[in-house]
Amino acid sequence: MGRVALVTGGTRGIGAAISIALRDAGYSVAANYGGNDEAAAKFNSETGIATYKWDVGDFGACQEGVSEVKGALGPVEILVNNAGITRDAMLHKLDKDNWDAVIRTNLDSCFNMSRQVIDDMRNAGFGRIINITSINGQKGQLGQTNYSAAKAGIIGFTKALAQETARKGITVNCVAPGYVDTDMVADVPEEALKGIIATIPVGRLGKSEEIAHCVRFLAADESAFITGSTLTANGAQYITG
Ligand code: NDP
Repeated sequence: MGRVALVTGGTRGIGAAISIALRDAGYSVAANYGGNDEAAAKFNSETGIATYKWDVGDFGACQEGVSEVKGALGPVEILVNNAGITRDAMLHKLDKDNWDAVIRTNLDSCFNMSRQVIDDMRNAGFGRIINITSINGQKGQLGQTNYSAAKAGIIGFTKALAQETARKGITVNCVAPGYVDTDMVADVPEEALKGIIATIPVGRLGKSEEIAHCVRFLAADESAFITGSTLTANGAQYITG
C-alpha cells in the first residue's frame, strides 16, 4: 500500500483530478466533499476512490472525518487542502454571510484540517501539506475581497507552517492556479470569461489535470527540499517572483 493521501473537495473539478493523479501514482486516496452527494457517488463509481462527506469549515467535523479516514486507511501522510468556494460581490454589496462563508471554507479549513494530521506527521517524521491558493490571492481581484483575502491568507499560513515543520520531514507548499476549466469558472458570465481568456498569454483556461500534476510533484518523497513555496500554474497571466 502506498502512502495515505486525503484530498478535500476531492470529488469534483481540480480536487477530483488531484485524487485521481495521486491514486495513479500509487497513493491510498480518500476524497472529502461538502454536500453534493450525486457528484461524489458518480466520482466513486467511476474511480473506486473512497469518498467522505464533511464540512471543512467545521473544526469538529474535520476531527471526526479525519479520524474516520485514519481508521480506514491509516494516518494521513499527504493532505491536500483543496476545497474552496467563491461568493463574489463588490465590497459595498458584500454581506457578512458571504464574507464569513468564503473565509471559513477556504482559509479556516486549512487550520481545521492541518491541525488534525500534524501530530501524526510529526511523529512519523514525514508529511506533505499542499494548499490550493489562487492567482487572485496573489494579485487581488475586484469583486473578490473575501476570496482574495482567504487565498492570500493561505500563502501566509503555508510559509509559517513550513518553518515550524521543516525539521520534522514535513513540507508545506501552495499551488496557485490561474483560471481552470471547472464548475467554479462555469459560474463566470460568458462575456467576462472571454475577457479573462484574452488576458492569458497561453490563450486558454488551465486543465484540472495540469494543477493535479503540480500537486503530485510536491507530494513526492523526492520533493523534500521544497517547502514554504508557491508553485504557480496560470498560463503566464500573472508572473510573480
Ligand atoms: P469546484 O467548485 O469545481 O469543486 C469544489 C470542491 O470543493 C467540491 O468537491 C466541493 O464539494 C468541495 N467543497 C466546497 N465546499 C466544501 C466544504 N465546506 N467542505 C468540504 N468540501 C467542500 O472547485 P474547483 O475545482 O474549481 O476549485 C478547487 C480549488 O481550486 C478551490 O480551492 C479553488 O478556490 C481553487 N482555484 C480554482 C480555480 C479555478 O479557476 N477553478 C482557480 C484558482 C484556484 P461538493 O461537490 O460537495 O460541493
